[in-house]
Amino acid sequence: MVCIPDGCADEPVPDLDGRTPLEAAKTPVLDALAARGEVGRAAVIPPGLPPGSDVGNMSILGYDPAEHHTGRAPIEAAALGLRLRDDQVAYRCNLVAIDADGTMVDFAGGHPSTEDAAVVIRALDEALGTDEVAFHPGVQYRHILVADRALADADCVPPHDLSDRPAVWPTGPAAPRLRALMDASRAVVGASGLAATQVWLWGQGSQPQLPSFADTYGIEAGMVTAVDLVRGLGVLTGMDVVDVPGATGWFDTDYEAKRDAALAGLRDGADLFVIHVEATDEAGHAGDVAEKVTALENWDRRILGPLVEGLDALGDWRLLLLPDHATPLVLKTHTSDPVPYLLVDSRTDGAGGVYTEAGTARSAAVPGHELMARLLER
Ligand SMILES: [Zn+2]
Repeated sequence: MVCIPDGCADEPVPDLDGRTPLEAAKTPVLDALAARGEVGRAAVIPPGLPPGSDVGNMSILGYDPAEHHTGRAPIEAAALGLRLRDDQVAYRCNLVAIDADGTMVDFAGGHPSTEDAAVVIRALDEALGTDEVAFHPGVQYRHILVADRALADADCVPPHDLSDRPAVWPTGPAAPRLRALMDASRAVVGASGLAATQVWLWGQGSQPQLPSFADTYGIEAGMVTAVDLVRGLGVLTGMDVVDVPGATGWFDTDYEAKRDAALAGLRDGADLFVIHVEATDEAGHAGDVAEKVTALENWDRRILGPLVEGLDALGDWRLLLLPDHATPLVLKTHTSDPVPYLLVDSRTDGAGGVYTEAGTARSAAVPGHELMARLLER
């Protein structure tokens, strides 16, 4: 089992009397697992790469991002079933709202529904699509532009880094053509009735060459997640990505359904299953202390407790638990700091420890992508 509470690692929080959410949350199952397992610190974000979920989750799945990461958009493109040719790149195409003064007032374009957004993205493709560029509808405000590789050479700023600030346009050789596309999108998006005013292109990259998980590790793996970026990694590595209706990527996600999907996958023949839950990360971005603690307690009571019982019923098992990066509540964004990991083997007791930031602070950080091989005893 691989358990990923997205962004759960944190820093001391004043509202928790200087404790972190991992320290404050009541997690008896996790505590017991840590007491019988091995805890340590993992460097999931290699130096020089952005502390994104794409990079961190690639590490957790056992692939070195320094070798395999080509950008964020091509991973999301894979989640949509798109495969890029060698002469193509994918851009993330946000529907955003920029006001008359040029301020990025909403990087999520007023959070349109997936259905409403798809109408606009199809209209954009109708109006602006050519042999060189094609717009593909995704989820809510998050879409994909597939472009000729000639359009790849630009530095683009993620729109969520520009919130309530002047929009910083792309720079570099391809910037004028990207700017022209974004400018031209205003007529179509503006006529749509959505709160969004235009598209914003960023996060570009070519098709990653990820060897399949089965070829790399010799076993079959399944995954459950509500997040396209993580789903895309599952698709690219040939995992069986299971759809769970109640998986929302939000605080209200159906923890039980994800746990049961994992146990069902293992019973049906998968050798390894990945459960990813986004709620801890969303709470971190929102600076919502109570929701982050609650999300960890939900992990413990609604996933880990029954999961361990289910695993015991299936035979011997091993479990790896760690987040893909930290999302400290006081910063409301990701950091590159190493994160605590937990490795448990049902057959043998480890040194035991405490699964918190402080409990692992003295351990030397191991490269995050090496933990998969340790989990699988390779
Ligand atoms: Zn993440």
